[in-house]
Amino acid sequence: MTCPAILSLEDFRDTQRRAAIRQRLHDRFDCWLNQLEDRMQDPTPTLAELTQAVFALRQELTQAVTEGLVEHTHRAALEQRTAVCPQCGQTLAARGPQDRTVETLVGAIRLRRPYFYCERCQVGTTPLDQALQLTKRRKQPDVQKAAVQLTKEIPYEAACELFEELTGLPLSAHTAHDVTQAVAAGVTVLDVAPSQEEILAKIAAVAAGRPWRPILVLAIDGADVPTRPTTAKGRRPGRKKARAKRARWIGEWREAKGFRFYLLADDRIVQVLSWHQVQTDDEAAEALRQVKAAGLIPEERVRLCVIADGARWIWKQAQALFPSAVEILDYYHCSEHLHKVAVLQYGAHPERQQEWYEAALARLFWGEVHGVIWGLQRMKPTDAPAAEEIDRLIRYLQRHQERLDYRFARKGGYPMGSGGIESANKFICHVRLKRSGAWWYVTNANQMLALRCAKYNGTLDRVFARYQQRLQDRSG
Ligand SMILES: [Zn+2]
Repeated sequence: MTCPAILSLEDFRDTQRRAAIRQRLHDRFDCWLNQLEDRMQDPTPTLAELTQAVFALRQELTQAVTEGLVEHTHRAALEQRTAVCPQCGQTLAARGPQDRTVETLVGAIRLRRPYFYCERCQVGTTPLDQALQLTKRRKQPDVQKAAVQLTKEIPYEAACELFEELTGLPLSAHTAHDVTQAVAAGVTVLDVAPSQEEILAKIAAVAAGRPWRPILVLAIDGADVPTRPTTAKGRRPGRKKARAKRARWIGEWREAKGFRFYLLADDRIVQVLSWHQVQTDDEAAEALRQVKAAGLIPEERVRLCVIADGARWIWKQAQALFPSAVEILDYYHCSEHLHKVAVLQYGAHPERQQEWYEAALARLFWGEVHGVIWGLQRMKPTDAPAAEEIDRLIRYLQRHQERLDYRFARKGGYPMGSGGIESANKFICHVRLKRSGAWWYVTNANQMLALRCAKYNGTLDRVFARYQQRLQDRSG
């Protein structure tokens, strides 16, 4: 015969308390239903009218449920009578209770909890806040994250409007700005880079069922970003009526130098790692060096190919870091150089200009760079500027001869142009940074670029988790 369950006094109290909390929740739900009924005039509402009414009142319900859950799950912290000072070890008596309201995506949560304060050490603690891992800001991390999801896509004012419309929570442009900056502060290339395992998994997925190692392209290029000098500062950014005055400073287009690693898979590109910043050549080179040093590029698993324009820092760095990579000079940058010569040399004869340009391009396409150089060396320059441009092109082609074998590139399945990075410039830089009337402080532009790189690299959650950890460390 089994014994009937014996309830201890403790269990009994627990059950009672649970029942009481439930009852309070039920009461609040009843109250909520009444409110909802009052709101609906029409006895036979449409679905849209129904959902509208529920949507408008949803937070009163979800916040009540959350408050009930806090009460239920954190009884110890809510009823704590004494605490030990973390510094001097003295026993402290509870003070309060004190009210605090925090904003979350399910609404404003009201908390009423005891706190402890050591007069001697002038240190205070609030056990409930610690147990709930609350952060100092009124807006908790879920709200902050949602805000950043929007600000990284659209201008601050629009992000705030949308945020309020979708969540029913207030968000000022100032706060949106602050939070975005805080999340992106100090983020480096290694923070936004996927892990070694993630990169290997992508490579394995592309390589599956193929005899050849997949091609991993490293494309390097710059994109123009509209910047404003730091001297334009003085007023807080993001405030509609108090923007820095245009007249006092001159905007400047600066180059966001970036690189993008991507895999070629049949008819598509698989994003691996992007990093774009308004930075010097040395800084860009250093970021690339860090990626290599972190062991993120498994050269033995791929056929690595570097594609870029003629910028010297790129090739110097690429050769130092990835000496075995196939190097390709971007076909389109190259064609622009040819076009310049065509215009200067044959400007007076449009037909001749077009003929020469197309023939030279076709030769390059077929890997006959020597033929093009030979032809240029024998060309009789029309005038001094043409002579200069011809010389320049000869030097350019000679310098990059090895990188101009487009016939070999095509046969090997390598790309000829840096279309991959140009599209990255568009979706990472231009889409967010090039807005009419938007001029960015370099710091802010770089923070925004870091967030957008994280998004496309699939690491935004990690960047945010690290930010949240920083907040915890600070409040703890
Ligand atoms: Zn103390």
